[in-house]
Amino acid sequence: MTPDTNVRKTVGLAADRQQSFYGRDIVSVRQFTRDDLNYIFTVSDEMRSLVHRVGATDLLKGHILANLFYEPSTRTFASFAAAMQRLGGSTIPIHGVQYSSVSKGESLPDTVRSLACYADVIVLRHPEVGASEVAARYSSKPVISAGDGVGEHPTQGLLDLYTIYAELGTVDELNVTMVGDLRNGRTVHSLARLLSMYRVNLTLVSPAILRLPAQLKQELVDAGLSVRETDRVENVISESDVVYVTRVQRERFEDMHEYEAVRDSYEITPELMANAKEKMALMHPLPRVNEIHYDVDDDPRAAYFRQMENGMYIRMALLAAVLGKA
Ligand code: ASP
Repeated sequence: MTPDTNVRKTVGLAADRQQSFYGRDIVSVRQFTRDDLNYIFTVSDEMRSLVHRVGATDLLKGHILANLFYEPSTRTFASFAAAMQRLGGSTIPIHGVQYSSVSKGESLPDTVRSLACYADVIVLRHPEVGASEVAARYSSKPVISAGDGVGEHPTQGLLDLYTIYAELGTVDELNVTMVGDLRNGRTVHSLARLLSMYRVNLTLVSPAILRLPAQLKQELVDAGLSVRETDRVENVISESDVVYVTRVQRERFEDMHEYEAVRDSYEITPELMANAKEKMALMHPLPRVNEIHYDVDDDPRAAYFRQMENGMYIRMALLAAVLGKA
């Protein structure tokens, strides 16, 4: 029988990728290659069909995840817990560190070193940029960032990119428009970096004080992305394939007058959506405050709840991958 080299190649690639995720920290989207993304998205597709068919499996039976959150969260916290449980594992939930030894003055390195004694993987959300790198340095077990301050939110970036694929079938050649708090929105930072690995036209819509940090913009341009900036979403909605809307990040403002001045800069309404393409995706990492009118929710192009569900499949794939079971 002639060996099927294509199959061998794919299997070989999957094995290599699995090897490259096993035991690895996930702290920034900068660490991923296109092959890594393809691998995680393929495993996420499998996780989706597994959940639809049977709900759960025992792939990670006996494994423990420590869910360590120093900042509020609904979706990231719950979807990591759900992901672990659907794979047969269990979680140590530390949500509200005021009830942990952190309130006694314990440092982040000591907290993660302790949790690493009990758990096989640590998911960390922290208000400081770079906290997950610090945690990863001290932890003997893989650390997955669940968002570090205004820095990055790598797993959200992955689920956002996965959602673009799921909604539109491709990423290359799309016009992607990001709207809102591009300065403080960590999900924007991760997704923009991931998009720079593709041929995408990126339009940034924000008030002047909420523009994407200049250094990050330069990074995107250097990576070959076409980037333009405007402050009016109505001028660009008709040509957008993806409109990625974000909340103004109230908790990052020192001056509340400044926040008040920009908090309601944008609202996507049914009237605005009437000018959008018939096939496009309206996305939002959630929670929304006033950026998308509730009357838009039934529009088939409103992808934000599907996007949220995708987060669980991405996190199932990542947990299985870093624990060597994908
Ligand atoms: N949930 C996302 C985050 O943690 C988006 C947001 O809070 O606006 O960054």
